[in-house]
Amino acid sequence: MKIYIKNHPFHYEIENITRLFFPYEKLQVVKFIDNEITEYESPYILTEINDEISVTVNFRNFQKTETTTKTEDEKENERLISSVLYNLLTEYTGIKMPWGMITGIRPVKYFRNLKENYSEEYAKEYFKNSYFVSDEKINLAKITEKYEKDIINSSKENSFSLYVSIPFCPSRCSYCSFVSQSVARTKHLIEPYVDLLCKEIEYTGNIAKENNLHLETVYIGGGTPTTLNPNQLEKMIKAINSSFNMETCREFTVEAGRPDTITADKLKVLKDNGVTRISINPQTLNDSVLEKIGRKHTAQNALEMFDLAGTYDFNCTNADLIAGLPTDTVESFAHSLDKLVEKNLENITVHTLSIKRSADYTEQGLTTNKEDAERTGKMLQYAEETLFNKGYVPYYLYRQSRMVGNFENVGWSKVGKEGLYNVFIMDETHSILACGAGGATKLKNHQTNCLTRIFNYKFPYEYIDHFDEILNRKDKVNNFFKELK
Ligand code: SF4
Repeated sequence: MKIYIKNHPFHYEIENITRLFFPYEKLQVVKFIDNEITEYESPYILTEINDEISVTVNFRNFQKTETTTKTEDEKENERLISSVLYNLLTEYTGIKMPWGMITGIRPVKYFRNLKENYSEEYAKEYFKNSYFVSDEKINLAKITEKYEKDIINSSKENSFSLYVSIPFCPSRCSYCSFVSQSVARTKHLIEPYVDLLCKEIEYTGNIAKENNLHLETVYIGGGTPTTLNPNQLEKMIKAINSSFNMETCREFTVEAGRPDTITADKLKVLKDNGVTRISINPQTLNDSVLEKIGRKHTAQNALEMFDLAGTYDFNCTNADLIAGLPTDTVESFAHSLDKLVEKNLENITVHTLSIKRSADYTEQGLTTNKEDAERTGKMLQYAEETLFNKGYVPYYLYRQSRMVGNFENVGWSKVGKEGLYNVFIMDETHSILACGAGGATKLKNHQTNCLTRIFNYKFPYEYIDHFDEILNRKDKVNNFFKELK
């Protein structure tokens, strides 16, 4: 489909709005001025700003042009042209987006900005009337903002969090878009990887100390960190404990993502070395769906791991579920959620399936339709009602591209047990220093509110082969903090 952009610079937003409705369509954006192009290739969307704002949608069975008055404010013109297109595509598809035409911005952060600059009432009205967000999602944003705010405010100007990446997994899930490598092919890289990772951790710890940074949280993610054996896990965690001032650290998370990688030995290593929060992520407790997503464990295995983890008395145990997995039904999703709620976990994160370009699902040609969106919507509604009833509150929320039905991911928590790191990273509250392959360091300048990103190599073999360069890039982190002083 061609999207013509005539006499305006808002191609990014116009493409995003179109993608909401046509996530799998190949879109070609054509920018031009005045009458450079007079014939358009159907099917097409023509957006233009001249004396007025005008949008034409020309599909085989639907042709319509709508106009609106131009303003002096460029930002408002961007919103106006987007909203004309959004309303035309809503009319054509019959689909009402839960988050309206909000794309590319974090809804809760945006809600907070509006609330702080005007009022909560204004924020709600603006979401509803200017962005067409549904009442249910406005309410979700409002409640999430309330629980997120206190966590954000608890961070200091020199605060930072540490992220450590373990990009290995026992097998690759069909929906995965991360760089994670299946251990079947990369087992031999784990030992050298962990050795170098410990060096990078130590190097980073020195930078943190030299610049008097205040460690708030540690998050070991991936991948599946518990793919490491107990000795490797212990070595890595001890490297963290000896390299950073852990006295200020308020939360230490290890993603024990895949139940088939967890053992009593590993849980003991985590507990004995100061880990306070673990995450076990079955994504569904339906065996046939587990098999279809490429998991090598059963629902029963996952439930047993929650029981085993319970005996180690971590401050917080999290579980992840995904709504919208292929072949999962509303009833089976509800059953999965109920089983997790029965375990009385402190955190339950409910994701919406997002089919990214690099996922196996995309290669297999999997797409989703209106019925999938409706089914996913019912799952999320069930989750919301159940979790509220059981005393959980939403404390962070984010959205990704190509999510089924354009819904959201929500972290639910018992009050006081929120996952701090999740809020800090999503809100971009403070700097995140990242170690390991695929890690992205984000340096926050509180004066300008800008983030500088420094990327590590993506794959473990690149990380091992170019380790000197990894340390060189860490020197840029040091320079950043020195220049801030
Ligand atoms: S466990 Fe996570 S990182 Fe590993 S393959 Fe599955 S989705 Fe990807």
